[in-house]
Amino acid sequence: MNNCFILLAAGKGKRFNSKEKKQFINYKNKPLFMHSIEKAKKSKLFKRIVLVTNKQIKIPNVQVIKGGKERSDSSINALKYLQNKNIKNVFIHDAARPNFSINLLNKLKKYISKNKAVVPFTNTNNSTKYAYKNKVVNLKRQKVLLTQTPQCFDYKTLYQLSINNKSSVTDESALFIINNKKVKFIKGEETNTKITKKNDLYVKKIKNFYGIGFDIHRLVKNKKLYLGGIKIPFHSGLKGHSDGDVILHCIIDALLGALRKKDIGSIYPSNKNKFKNIRSPKMLKPIIFFLEKNNYYINNLDINLICERPKVSKYRNKIINSLSALMNINKNIINLKGKTVEKLGLIGKENAIACEAIVSINKYE
Ligand code: ZN
Repeated sequence: MNNCFILLAAGKGKRFNSKEKKQFINYKNKPLFMHSIEKAKKSKLFKRIVLVTNKQIKIPNVQVIKGGKERSDSSINALKYLQNKNIKNVFIHDAARPNFSINLLNKLKKYISKNKAVVPFTNTNNSTKYAYKNKVVNLKRQKVLLTQTPQCFDYKTLYQLSINNKSSVTDESALFIINNKKVKFIKGEETNTKITKKNDLYVKKIKNFYGIGFDIHRLVKNKKLYLGGIKIPFHSGLKGHSDGDVILHCIIDALLGALRKKDIGSIYPSNKNKFKNIRSPKMLKPIIFFLEKNNYYINNLDINLICERPKVSKYRNKIINSLSALMNINKNIINLKGKTVEKLGLIGKENAIACEAIVSINKYE
């Protein structure tokens, strides 16, 4: 799997009238470029992911390198960086196209095994003319290919073409065309549009929904304690049909609330044996999948964990990291508060742990 994903995010975005550079602007609750990084990671196709940008940032498992003056300079910087790193194929992508699918990456990978350059394209619905010298000619629109990224190349071939190139190109496939080398064109995606102007970000309607969740479980001896998907050393664990993870149950109910889809018990009835001893991350997973599939984006998650012990401050970061991974959301939109109950009642005597959560989600239409 010697594939590398190169994300170009060093552009100036001249057509994008904003103080913040386009590739870092918030889009569907994430910086625009992160959509591409996350998809590349999720596809599991890449040995390396290289982000070319002039902003100083750190992202786990992503190599950040400096961009050049033009797009082609940035691309060359990345290709040079990859020298002697045993790379077979490079996938080059523009950060301004956050909406490609992992399926498209897989298609590119499939075709590159028999080609040196694979490029997705779409057709246009507009009647097309071409102005050439003093003349304008009609073009057959089925013959006009609007090329997209990600584009996939044999690393060595692209490297040679790039360093020998003297003319200005707007994408790597142009290098192959200038040099009369074959490009395999494959069907791209209508939804894989480029965000160029500020308006492109706001074409969609955003609706906001809130959900609330509450849960409580008894603490019992000889059971492991799970909170937020991780095991926490403690004298007892939470009793329940599942692993009793109050935080995850609470989040599931909050999400179902925001989606107006009843409650956790209606999806995982406790009288069904197949859910006995189920781990709670497994219960959360289909709900996160549903959100992603239906264009819902979590905006904010606030949690109160109500217990005398364990001390939340000791495990806060670990729990937040775990939630961030399980829910595929940024850590900075999760807040976890610890609340004791002055040693009162069941919770105060360490016989139970309760939790409440509020979640806010956006729906893009
Ligand atoms: Zn529960």
